[in-house]
Amino acid sequence: MYDQDNLFAKILRGEIPSTAVYDDEFAFAFNDINPQAPVHVLVIPRGAYIDMDDLTANGSDAEIAGFMRAVGHVARDVLGLADGGYRLLVNNGPDSNQEVPHLHIHIVGGRNLGPLMVK
Ligand code: 5GP
Repeated sequence: MYDQDNLFAKILRGEIPSTAVYDDEFAFAFNDINPQAPVHVLVIPRGAYIDMDDLTANGSDAEIAGFMRAVGHVARDVLGLADGGYRLLVNNGPDSNQEVPHLHIHIVGGRNLGPLMVK
């Protein structure tokens, strides 16, 4: 069950401040409060989806396409990361230690990120 009072729902409603970098019908993107690299942005769907499993099972084609297009647009056109490259990371559910139960894709870049760490 989606929690309407989760942190990112409050950010979407403007109840908690964030530094927005992009906003459209399907997605909202803002700087991570604890960046792990020179660029660390979170992209979240406007719809109430807990995680990628929820979006891909229950989202409309328009929501899924609009959200993924926004991720690409933010990385390429807003953040300018396409040439240097970047990493996308999505924590999904308890085993991933997902902290906030509203789907978010991390866009991380701005330096060489080294090997993927899974520990
Ligand atoms: P997760 O671990 O769920 O994949 O990622 C949650 C992310 O949310 C973390 O990278 C964390 O730094 C970020 N975060 C937590 N609280 C806030 C907040 O109040 N504002 C912003 N902008 N990011 C937050």
